[in-house]
Amino acid sequence: MYKFISRNRDKRKLHKSYIALFKHNLDQKWGKFVANQPLLKKVLPQGMTPTKLFVAEFRKLVDVYFSYIDYLNSLSVENKEIVNTTVKKFFNYDSHAGKIAKFLHDEYEIHNCVYCDSSKVSIFHHKRKEVRRFDIDHVLDKGTCPLTSLSLYNLVPSCKICNNSPLKGRKTIGDTIKEIKHLSPTNPSYDFWHHVKFVINPKFPNISNTPRVMYENEYELDIEYYKDTTYAKSVNLFELKDRYNTDFLHEALLYLDLKDKYTKRQILDMAKILGKTYDEVYEDIFKIKFDQTHHSLYRKAKEDILGITTFG
Ligand SMILES: [Zn+2]
Repeated sequence: MYKFISRNRDKRKLHKSYIALFKHNLDQKWGKFVANQPLLKKVLPQGMTPTKLFVAEFRKLVDVYFSYIDYLNSLSVENKEIVNTTVKKFFNYDSHAGKIAKFLHDEYEIHNCVYCDSSKVSIFHHKRKEVRRFDIDHVLDKGTCPLTSLSLYNLVPSCKICNNSPLKGRKTIGDTIKEIKHLSPTNPSYDFWHHVKFVINPKFPNISNTPRVMYENEYELDIEYYKDTTYAKSVNLFELKDRYNTDFLHEALLYLDLKDKYTKRQILDMAKILGKTYDEVYEDIFKIKFDQTHHSLYRKAKEDILGITTFG
């Protein structure tokens, strides 16, 4: 749902500080590692080194992911096991998980689950220790392809519900290579925000009961697509329609009722009486800027329902 925006606008600096998380000279280490394991020689595509892989663009990671799977499939069952276990040992996510999560939290403008916007991505302190209330999802599963388990653009802060089975688990977002490259929030052209719209529809024809919030059973939250229906694969994978109907419908109906209640004319009249501007009164009622600065949950859905988002 969210684009991945780094606080550090200089990509080179960002990449440098990411690679610095891993203290050893990894390319040299990999050279030695491979020298003792002839089966590993073909694991990385030509010209690719661990350091390059760590900061390679997401679309390149997808190519590495599929070529790794092809390579494994060309091996005997026994060799497959040897290669996968050895690669896992080198690209060991678990031993770096804490510092990677901290890096993403500090370096990126991410405050809520990137996939669902219904859970906070934050760190709090317990007895001076940092506790994080979010997972790091590997867009390309680290069990299937350990090669990309430490790659910056394969890592997405998300909630436990989105990250784990039965939702994402080990699955890819999208089915074809083209879709998979497109649907990662780390893909530079990913733009869920302006192609997916949350709307409220009556469940039955000719429903006009208001306030809607009193007739919750008569309405449902639905999802529409603008110019790019592939985002439906992401919406379906993360069960956004069902989750939003369960957790956000009531609030959504409240906003829609408020929108009916406070027309432009009324807000202008109120502004005159109160000695405020139109924008100030609008903000007092709808709290759009407040939600933006406080990174409130469900902000996109709220802005869609109030007609604020632009699409296409
Ligand atoms: Zn989530």
